[in-house]
Amino acid sequence: MSIMNVLTQQCVLCGDSLNRSFGICDPCQQELPTPVNGCQRCGIEMGPEPSACGYCGQCLSDPPAFDRCIALCRYEYPIRELIASFKFHARFAEGQALAKLLAERVLNCYEPDDMPQSLLPVPLHPRRLRERGYNQSVELARAVGRRCNIPIALHYCRRTRSTPSQKGLSADERAVNLRNAFVLDQNGSAKPPRHIAIVDDVVTTMTTVNTIARMLRAAGHSRIDVICLARVS
Ligand SMILES: [Zn+2]
Ligand SMILES: [Zn+2]
Repeated sequence: MSIMNVLTQQCVLCGDSLNRSFGICDPCQQELPTPVNGCQRCGIEMGPEPSACGYCGQCLSDPPAFDRCIALCRYEYPIRELIASFKFHARFAEGQALAKLLAERVLNCYEPDDMPQSLLPVPLHPRRLRERGYNQSVELARAVGRRCNIPIALHYCRRTRSTPSQKGLSADERAVNLRNAFVLDQNGSAKPPRHIAIVDDVVTTMTTVNTIARMLRAAGHSRIDVICLARVS
C-alpha cells in the first residue's frame, strides 16, 4: 500500500494523484489541524483569546526546560492516524509526507541565520529499535536536516532504560518513569553546538522532551528547541 503510494505519487489522505512528490495534496493540506495561537514557548494552543504576551499561564509560572516548541499540527484526525500508520505499521509514504511538511514548517519558522545547529531525535531503546526496525524520530530528523541543511546528532543521546509506556501515568509518575532513562555522550568528540533542536513525533505531556532538554541545558547547550509533528493540547 505505502510503496504503491510512493510509486504512483498519490495523496496519502485522499488518493488523488499528485503533480509533485509531496505526499499530501494542497486541498488536504489546507484542512490539516494547524495550531492557532500557540504559546511561543511550549506550543500549546491558547484558544481564540491568546494572552497578550504570547505565553501560556503555565510557561509564565513554571516554564519548561526548552525555549520553543514548533508543532506541525494538533494531535487530531487525520494527523493522528497518519502518525500511527508511520510509527506502528511502517508506512513510509505516510512518514515521508509528514516529514516533508514538517521540514517546510521548520524552514518557515526560523530566520536563515537563526536555524538550530543540530537536530537530536528522541532515541529509542536499542531493543525497541530492533523490534520496530526504525526510529520514527530519526526519520523525521533526517528529512528536516536534509531540507534545512542541519546535521543530526544521532549518537549524542542514548536511551539506557526501556521505559514502560507513559500512557495513563500522572506527570509525576512520568517523570519518575523517565528518570535516568537517557544519557548524553559528553566524552565523545561529536558534541553538537549550542543551539540544538530535539525532534519527536508527538509531544504529549512534555515529560520526555523536558527530561532531555534539562540534560542538554546542564551540558551547556544554551538554546534548546523542540520540533514535532503533533502537539497534544
Ligand atoms: Zn488529498
Ligand atoms: Zn506555554
